[in-house]
Amino acid sequence: MLGANHLLVGFACGVLGDAAGVLPLNAETLPPLLLGSLLPDIDHPKSLLGRRFFLVSGVMDMAVGHRGATHSIFALAATIIGGFYLLSPDMALALSVGFTSHLLADAMTKGGVPILWPNPVKMHILPTPFKTGSLVEYLVTGLLLGLSFICNPTAIKLLE
Ligand SMILES: [Zn+2]
Repeated sequence: MLGANHLLVGFACGVLGDAAGVLPLNAETLPPLLLGSLLPDIDHPKSLLGRRFFLVSGVMDMAVGHRGATHSIFALAATIIGGFYLLSPDMALALSVGFTSHLLADAMTKGGVPILWPNPVKMHILPTPFKTGSLVEYLVTGLLLGLSFICNPTAIKLLE
């Protein structure tokens, strides 16, 4: 999935989490939510985050490749543990929700995610995965975002 859509999907998941009373979405939790939604792609030098941290992303790309270790359950676990160690509980939860949204969003694409990396088997969560950057990706992103605002209409204020 493209970086901009990862941001929107992560935001939508935060809005849904807020509606469910699980994740308070506010000025404190929004930045880690969005960071988490981009973090797995730190392994790609041309990703939104990878362009900002090109040395880290270049080394990771050479070492483990794109959609490798950073797209696994182990990276998610490290993010959750590190988040709760370094951040407030709400910020850590937001970071974890964003990270999880990224893995699930990539699992909807044809590329899938190696959730049990280094096992190369890719996880897909749709019977018919779509191509990254395709029209279907934009439709899924828009539908998820629309659904989140239907469930939590007051969240639109976060965009003001
Ligand atoms: Zn990714």
